[in-house]
Amino acid sequence: MSETIPFQQALQGIEPLLRSMTQGFTQEPKASIQSLQQLLNTQPSKALSTSMTSALPHDHDDRLQKLAHLREEALACIRCPHLVASRTQVVFGVGNPFAELMFVGEAPGEEEDLKGEPFVGRAGQLLTKIINAMEYQREEIFIANVLKCRPNMPPNTSGNRKPKLEEMTTCLPWLKQQIELIKPRVLVALGTTAVEGLLGKAVLMRDMRGKWFDFQGTPLMVTYHPAYLLRNQSLSEKRKVWEDMLQVLEKLERPISEKQRGFFLSK
Ligand code: SF4
Repeated sequence: MSETIPFQQALQGIEPLLRSMTQGFTQEPKASIQSLQQLLNTQPSKALSTSMTSALPHDHDDRLQKLAHLREEALACIRCPHLVASRTQVVFGVGNPFAELMFVGEAPGEEEDLKGEPFVGRAGQLLTKIINAMEYQREEIFIANVLKCRPNMPPNTSGNRKPKLEEMTTCLPWLKQQIELIKPRVLVALGTTAVEGLLGKAVLMRDMRGKWFDFQGTPLMVTYHPAYLLRNQSLSEKRKVWEDMLQVLEKLERPISEKQRGFFLSK
């Protein structure tokens, strides 16, 4: 294939690669990787070019295969019998297997359990807006939860419950392996419960938000869960999250426009 294939055509070529993250790697990864390489040889937008270029490691085939294998194992996990009994499916995580940025939430809710994808409800839509405001597409990053199965609910009750620390501790090895394989340059923990799951201890968000931590060698930024912003829509709270995201962009050495720097500032 020529190095001058149209960008759109190359983008279509990597769709199976991205889709496979949610559907179980049914495609032969090499075909998608060829398309990804072709995409890198075209003239994509700067945002896509930067993340994709930095995200194509020399061991990409090996990494994809290991991630596919890990996903298969996780989908069959029965470590928590009470969650196995109530879940529709394990919600492994979605996104770019070579992402430089990974968002980590606490656990799937009802919608995520049904769809098999994290952050698909209203909070997920807000997360996508935040990602877009950072000049990323959702498919360019990776999104996962600490707990991969929806916390069970008492019979005949609706809604979602917060995962217990011991549940997250049991499940954490799956996320650790995802991080080891994807090798993001930056992790963002969304909300207190996700931070507790990652660090294995109770925390206060007011002590941690907007600060950098280290999670097994990867810089970790702590910020509010998008659901918090849905409950509290004040400009000041939105600005706090946005300032955290500006720190993330700086850590990733992404260009930041003056317009981006001014988001959610009071006029
Ligand atoms: S919550 Fe995690 S550890 Fe427990 S059964 Fe689900 S995938 Fe396995």
